Amino acid sequence: VLEVKNLHKKFGETEILKGVDLSIQQGEVLVLLGASGSGKSTLLRTLNGLETIEQGEIFFQGNKLTLSEKAWEKHRTEIGMVFQSYELFPNMNVLENLLLGPLKVQKRERKSVEKVALELLERVGLREKASSYPRELSGGQKQRVAIVRALIMEPQLLLFDEITASLDPEMVREVLLVLQDLAKEGKTMLIVTHEMKFARLVADRIIFMDEGVIIAEQSAEEFFDKQENPRILNFLNSLD
Ligand code: ATP
Ligand code: MG
Repeated sequence: VLEVKNLHKKFGETEILKGVDLSIQQGEVLVLLGASGSGKSTLLRTLNGLETIEQGEIFFQGNKLTLSEKAWEKHRTEIGMVFQSYELFPNMNVLENLLLGPLKVQKRERKSVEKVALELLERVGLREKASSYPRELSGGQKQRVAIVRALIMEPQLLLFDEITASLDPEMVREVLLVLQDLAKEGKTMLIVTHEMKFARLVADRIIFMDEGVIIAEQSAEEFFDKQENPRILNFLNSLD
């Protein structure tokens, strides 16, 4: 689905991504780990066209992505992203938030999208919140709506950037269960998370980023149980 070659990204004089290579196959769940500031969010944002790149190539479904705004508009609907902050529109209710992209960007038909929206809400346990406003929802509920908002665009690839990081512990589970469900269904996903148990459970592969490069790509078992890289051991030890 996605292939990244020798990606470089600078902010001012500082190089943040220093030659990232990465590929994601259809149906694969990839978990991206790494210390704070290593460049994980920057990488996800470049994949979604939210940051420009200086050097390197991104191929999405076999097509090389160019820097033109027009091309990105299309790709952005095919690559869904969910952030730590939910970024729902506060003046719109849940259903309106969900319909915005499909109706305005994809020009789909209201009736059929509405049906899909309600089905997806049902699936994440929020059918009865369709006409609630974001302020009336808990953090975990808002994040589940944000996931549905990404799903309803029918993306080929889903990017998740620490989507449980600002949630209370009891709400983390309900959000992670939704992701597990999507993984089981065969969705292609790239997940940045600090939840190690979850990473182990859901990942087909784990990639580890250190100072702007990917230094390891392993199965969860290799990564957690047979780790020999001192930098990664140091990271794992710093977690507890
Ligand atoms: P965390 O785990 O804390 O979320 P991260 O791995 O996601 O960290 P990034 O957010 O990608 O890290 O940031 C990598 C580096 O790039 C950091 O040093 C950060 O200060 C810098 N950086 C990120 N965004 C910008 C920006 N818009 N302008 C300048 N520097 C930035
Ligand atoms: Mg980040």
